[in-house]
Amino acid sequence: MATLEIKDLHVEIEGKEILKGVNLTINTNEIHAIMGPNGTGKSTLASAIMGHPKYEVTQGEVLLDGENVLEMEVDERAKAGLFLAMQYPSEISGVTNADFLRSAINARREEGDEISLMKFIRELDKTMDFLEMPEEMGQRYLNEGFSGGEKKRNEILQLMMIKPTFAILDEIDSGLDIDALKVVSKGINEMRGEGFGCLMITHYQRLLNYITPDHVHVMMQGRVVKSGGSELAQRLEAEGYEWIKKELGIED
Ligand code: ADP
Ligand code: MG
Ligand code: MG
Repeated sequence: MATLEIKDLHVEIEGKEILKGVNLTINTNEIHAIMGPNGTGKSTLASAIMGHPKYEVTQGEVLLDGENVLEMEVDERAKAGLFLAMQYPSEISGVTNADFLRSAINARREEGDEISLMKFIRELDKTMDFLEMPEEMGQRYLNEGFSGGEKKRNEILQLMMIKPTFAILDEIDSGLDIDALKVVSKGINEMRGEGFGCLMITHYQRLLNYITPDHVHVMMQGRVVKSGGSELAQRLEAEGYEWIKKELGIED
């Protein structure tokens, strides 16, 4: 089992404190969802873990099996087993989707242990089939002219091919039509298991109709203010966030 621990994380953007002490522990074989109103710091959490230079960690730790993630370069974070959908470039001219995937897989492997071209192609074909992606998507330049839905589907292709230990998926469901949403969910559900843990950030409960999270957390004003099981997401869908604000005495 592997563990990703976020401990008392404080993050500032341009001198303004956005995260005010986030605590969260994710194990492999668990899917966690973070929900919360707009502007409460959910994306800031993902960006800080990814190492985005604009986000300054002023206090706290992020540990992957006890190793300090915040001291790693972005590529070292990927090598250590973290997958952050946003860390992958939005577009690279002249690099095909397949080439990019193969180098991302090999970046996680030791020299001399690179995936063979045959094995790579076999796995790529199988995974693209599973995700109902047309074959030509592999030969298209990465993200160039991809529609919103194709980009998200492609992120799940990256996830399934790179096989990280932990994935942090920010708004993977936003802007998806129902068919794309089903395919994206199918991919994440397929990843579920012993060697994989996931933190899904979502504004809507809709995604959680297809992926049942083991743990649901509510973030408000830069903190995780409430945690529960999947029933918490259902209550949020039915009742919104007001009851939590009342319960905790939070004012806007
Ligand atoms: P959420 O994802 O929960 O909607 P965010 O993490 O995107 O929230 O934003 C939290 C707060 O940080 C908001 O007040 C937002 O305006 C501010 N913020 C986020 N990113 C930046 C940025 N790059 N520069 C300045 N302020 C930002
Ligand atoms: Mg648990
Ligand atoms: Mg966000």
